[in-house]
Amino acid sequence: LGRSPTLWELTRRRADLTPDRPVLLQDDRALSFGELRDGAETVAAGLFERGVRPGTVVAWQLPTRIETVLLSLALARLGAVQSPVIPFHRDREVAYVLRESKADFFAVPGVWRGFDHAAMARRLGARGVFEAYGDLPRGDPSILPPPPADGTSVRWIHWTSGTTADPKGVLHTDRSLIAGGSCLAHALRLTADDIGSIAFPYAHIGGVDYLVMLLMYGFPAVLFERFALPGALAEYRRHGVTTAGGSTAFYSMLLAEQRERPGRPLIPTLRLLAGGGAPRPPELYHAVVRELGCELAHGYGMTEAPMITMGSPGDTPEHLANTEGRPPPGMEIRITDGEVRLRGEAVCRGYLDPALTAEAFDEDGFLRTGDLGRLTPDGHLVLTGRLKDIIIRKGENISAREIEDLLHAHPAVAEASVVGLPDPVRGERVCAVVVLRPAAGPLTLPAVTAFLRRRGLAVHKLPERLETVAELPRGGSLRKVLKQRLRERFS
Ligand code: ATP
Ligand code: MG
Repeated sequence: LGRSPTLWELTRRRADLTPDRPVLLQDDRALSFGELRDGAETVAAGLFERGVRPGTVVAWQLPTRIETVLLSLALARLGAVQSPVIPFHRDREVAYVLRESKADFFAVPGVWRGFDHAAMARRLGARGVFEAYGDLPRGDPSILPPPPADGTSVRWIHWTSGTTADPKGVLHTDRSLIAGGSCLAHALRLTADDIGSIAFPYAHIGGVDYLVMLLMYGFPAVLFERFALPGALAEYRRHGVTTAGGSTAFYSMLLAEQRERPGRPLIPTLRLLAGGGAPRPPELYHAVVRELGCELAHGYGMTEAPMITMGSPGDTPEHLANTEGRPPPGMEIRITDGEVRLRGEAVCRGYLDPALTAEAFDEDGFLRTGDLGRLTPDGHLVLTGRLKDIIIRKGENISAREIEDLLHAHPAVAEASVVGLPDPVRGERVCAVVVLRPAAGPLTLPAVTAFLRRRGLAVHKLPERLETVAELPRGGSLRKVLKQRLRERFS
């Protein structure tokens, strides 16, 4: 490969090497690497006939299907700029994305799971709306201009989860995404014999990262149009999945399912769960290894740099349980004033909004992540919270994350989120919001504070308010807790 291969070049090389091997498995369908290349070319021709050119901005809001990957690769083949939108986003988020990205085209599924995406697109005045669920536009590849020559131009606009502010449009190149994907594959020690799977939307930044792994190593992945247990388990078993990718919530889901059927392995062929994207309490690591009987490689990533650090199957259990792993070669990490900062090929080129880009990179070109952390002497990263998730009570900085981790260890607590609420005297006060486990009785504030004190939490950090909710408000592709909603609700 040249110095900066494109995603399309990776696809072609892989299809030349192993044309008949499967790459995408879904329901009763299997698409081979050869079919992936050929299919993407005919779709690229269909898009070209509709007016998509190199540099044209195409937003798409499509569920995770073989067709979606074909469309995405077709756009890569054309050298268009694509902006994936999470399928369950609705008017508010979609209007924002269309406006910010100035999309020339918007591909939607029509009616999907009872929601009329095409009508929404019309309502929002989207330009160039077309349906791309079953029948994709197709044409004769001989009309196509040559593919893009290198992977260094911005061709992707992914969206952050909007946890701390409005979602940000993140600019990636084929090169930055390939750098991230190849590091991931290396850390996970995957091989051509693996059978992978993704439990998160392909529209998430991890989707194309995963595709890069499939292209580099030549193994297939099972796709889920809408991931849900227990149905997905049958698919895992049928395809003999050896490695599954998902978020922290995904490991917990599998674990809960396993607990329903003790003694019978949930997915007998599974050897490695891989994922990240949100804090994972150490207990969860031990429970996964013990009860699911597989390894867990948990990592730290963000839309701006999907693969920052990753636990590797060779690391010690202590490291795997208590750290986010190490950065791959080529990813530089430094901690400045407690904040994690990054530099490397796998980091994005910036944001759609140039003002955000200017703020985000420091004078040495390191990206400010907004995450707090430290490096252990042997180079493993420990994340301790987010800059924007610090509660300041009487001038003392309190990390919401520290309290959440302790609350997760309480036997009655299924989920916990800690927020600061405005307080006229102290600035802010600590409010713990919990979801109780199904069989657990009511929990009181004194019982919680006594528990936290026994676990060594400093007195000034103890919650002054406890709220019990049926479920936490979540959003974004990884269903993260929307703390702003909690603050509004309980202020
Ligand atoms: P926004 O940037 O719009 O406020 P966001 O940062 O939540 O939203 P994402 O890019 O989806 O959007 O998420 C990246 C963030 O997720 C990281 O900056 C970090 O705070 C958190 N995160 C990712 N991996 C981990 C992890 N392993 N442990 C703890 N937090 C993590
Ligand atoms: Mg962010």
